[in-house]
Amino acid sequence: LHVDLPLAAEAEVGLAREQAHYLFSVMRLAAGDRVALFNGRDGEWAAEVVSAGKRAGVLACRERLRQQTVLPDLWLLFAPLKKARTDFVAEKACEMGCARLWPVFTQHTNAERVRPDRLRAHAVEAAEQCGLLAVPEVAEPCPLAAALAGWDPARRLLFCDERGGGVPAFAAVQAAGPGPWAVLVGPEGGFSEAEAERLRALPFAHAASLGPRILRADTAAVAALALLQAAAGD
Ligand code: SAM
Repeated sequence: LHVDLPLAAEAEVGLAREQAHYLFSVMRLAAGDRVALFNGRDGEWAAEVVSAGKRAGVLACRERLRQQTVLPDLWLLFAPLKKARTDFVAEKACEMGCARLWPVFTQHTNAERVRPDRLRAHAVEAAEQCGLLAVPEVAEPCPLAAALAGWDPARRLLFCDERGGGVPAFAAVQAAGPGPWAVLVGPEGGFSEAEAERLRALPFAHAASLGPRILRADTAAVAALALLQAAAGD
């Protein structure tokens, strides 16, 4: 279970209403039962239920089960999609070990807004499911141009470009050398010609193909992360 409080020997953790509902009504835990906790900073702790109520509860940390793990320094920039597909991207990027999710608005992005708190909630759920001890940061959504304007050129950008002729992603990553890396995936309508041209001209960007078929944007994000990790060895 993910909590936003410090974890240490004998630390007491007060539960939010939904967490108490999940543990005591859904999972039917009671005083004396144990549950594993993490907060993304202090590793994983075995905690004991001290008090269990319908709307609240308290757990006490007993022993550390695992040391904190650090996520690979890998980012995903993506154009927000329809709600369910954006949720999918957040969940899968977390499973793949991304350290930062960054929604960026492009010319053909249809979604008008994206809620970082919702993305984070999906990432937390994915981390809980996978036994990951770290949750990616969700960066403030912004226009793609603004994200690129403040870019640290030491971070390479795998620009997923569906317009044929690109170097295959695996080869592009291998040829570029060591990271850190970020993946950039466009919206359902793709990047505009002007955006693509600007991206190709950036010294830190590596235009890459994910194969001969056009993938949906959410599929493309997962495929690109898998190819990047296979090639970069993270
Ligand atoms: N321009 C498109 C169209 O409407 O025909 C398709 C865009 S695609 C659905 C969404 C995004 O996924 C693209 O902008 C690109 O970043 C990525 N993508 C999908 N298939 C890809 C491929 N084969 N190679 C590289 N990127 C791909």
